[in-house]
Amino acid sequence: MKTKGDGHGGERIFEGFAVGAGIAIGVVHRHDSRAVVQVRERHVPANRIRAEQSRIVQAAYDASRRMEELQAQARRMKGAAGEELGYLLDAYHQMLSGSRLVRGVQARISEQQINAEAAVMKEIGLMAEAFAAMDDPYLAARIADIREVGRRLVESLGEKTPTGFEDLPDDAVLVADELSPADTALLDPKKVAGLATMVGGVESHTAIVARALGLPAVVAADFLDQVENGETAIIDGGEGKLIVAPSAATLNLYRERRADFLRAQRALTKLKTVPATTRDGMRVTLQANIELPSEVDAVLASGAEGIGLLRSEFLFMNRGKLPTEEEQFKELAGIVRRMQGRPVTIRTLDVGADKLGDALDLKTGPNPALGLRAIRFSLSRRKLLLTQLSAILRVSALGPVRILLPMVCTVEEVREVRRILARLVAALKRKGVKMADPPPPLGVMIEIPGAALAADALAAESDFFAIGTNDLTQYTLAIDRTDEQVAYLYNPLHPAVLRLIQFAAEAAHAGRIPVSVCGEMAGDERLAPLLLGFGITELSMSPANLPRVKNRILDLTYSALQGKVRRITSLADPAKVRKVVDELSS
Ligand code: PEP
Ligand code: MG
Repeated sequence: MKTKGDGHGGERIFEGFAVGAGIAIGVVHRHDSRAVVQVRERHVPANRIRAEQSRIVQAAYDASRRMEELQAQARRMKGAAGEELGYLLDAYHQMLSGSRLVRGVQARISEQQINAEAAVMKEIGLMAEAFAAMDDPYLAARIADIREVGRRLVESLGEKTPTGFEDLPDDAVLVADELSPADTALLDPKKVAGLATMVGGVESHTAIVARALGLPAVVAADFLDQVENGETAIIDGGEGKLIVAPSAATLNLYRERRADFLRAQRALTKLKTVPATTRDGMRVTLQANIELPSEVDAVLASGAEGIGLLRSEFLFMNRGKLPTEEEQFKELAGIVRRMQGRPVTIRTLDVGADKLGDALDLKTGPNPALGLRAIRFSLSRRKLLLTQLSAILRVSALGPVRILLPMVCTVEEVREVRRILARLVAALKRKGVKMADPPPPLGVMIEIPGAALAADALAAESDFFAIGTNDLTQYTLAIDRTDEQVAYLYNPLHPAVLRLIQFAAEAAHAGRIPVSVCGEMAGDERLAPLLLGFGITELSMSPANLPRVKNRILDLTYSALQGKVRRITSLADPAKVRKVVDELSS
């Protein structure tokens, strides 16, 4: 990303993506996870080969036990991030206890007559190379995990392999190429003020760790060779900046900003029970998006009125077998019960492209983003869809539930799901299964440009709309949302995206069905006046953003926004749009 500054020594500013809000001021501690563990290769005589092979079996066993301790530690961490860390550690655990790696190392020991440490490093090196060659950003990100597993194995063999986190200064600003979840589970959050990494997007390990530890963070900033241990550093987790060796003026400015941020945080928590109503009395419904059951605590703490988007992919991740109806029911029931009567919108499996599910045996076509994914995938795997719908129908007996279909493209898809649902409801009724009567509303995600343009037809078939601006932006602008190279073009304020949102909202109003926005846009408080101007009064967002959005809404006059936004959709330039929207709300 961009770099500004006057060379080494003076103030330097590195820009990246913001992944953890807040401001950190502290001391640089560099960490290089690419540093390959150095081990010595020894010749092992033929009569010692067996003994050397059993060393690796024992080491894998020891490393697995250690990993189980870390998994237990992650489970004790509060909230979703602890759970996310847990999933990543599970993957390490599987690699360590899976016989493939151990067998590979054993074969090397006997074929090359070398010691276990050297055999591990060679095997790991080969695996990392194979992943790198696949030219897939997801797999490339896993290379750090493979190296980490190697380091742990070598450590279990008795070698010292420093993690680099041993001597953290107080208020450390950790700057690294990438952070591995296993190491970060060992980090002392009281010592770390903030994080900056060279690699990663909003779904990277660093982002996960930042969320887990509640730290300001910036990712994908290009800095590592230009930052020295011990230098003063600032992380601006809202703007995505790492500032090294700040001038006295910058330091003072950021001290003030940090104090303001902390004050604002305290003030926002007081808004929890205040309804989101504009100055002229328009009631806006604010709900939360969640990806994991453990996020429900955060949802309730944020004051959300319900879950506007429950991404059900977690049910299918990190597992070898498909979840049964009973398993899905239990997980979903837990969420619905904890929401205590607040509505929960459950989206059916949205898998494919950037979202993978281990148990699904997904065949990626030539262009996964345009391939068999989301509702298309579910309709091609009827049993999977039936199982999920049955679980949702059963859960509907426990609280208000809605069913949401991802990436709907045609009315026929909605009709087909309705037919399936009707048959299922009849069958479950015959069996005496309890469920909501009438059955839950069936809604569609508007996230394909074609669906937005055909929103009037879709509105006639759907009970509600949820506009997914993340994918709508990706598909409208032909920009892969996971590709860093074109991230600069990804902008939901492009007039094409805005016009589609407006069109879909108008179609929903004309068809008299509720419409919400549940993409990242909904969580940007600066854009609230724009969405309200389109007549959208239901927003669903990450719970962390909810208090700020509510605060903004309390300050808006709904009727004054109507009409004004029409002009905005004719502006050509997203930067101009932002400026005009800012003026709207002031
Ligand atoms: C979206 O596309 O805007 C959306 C909310 O769905 P997801 O981010 O899960 O694809
Ligand atoms: Mg989407």
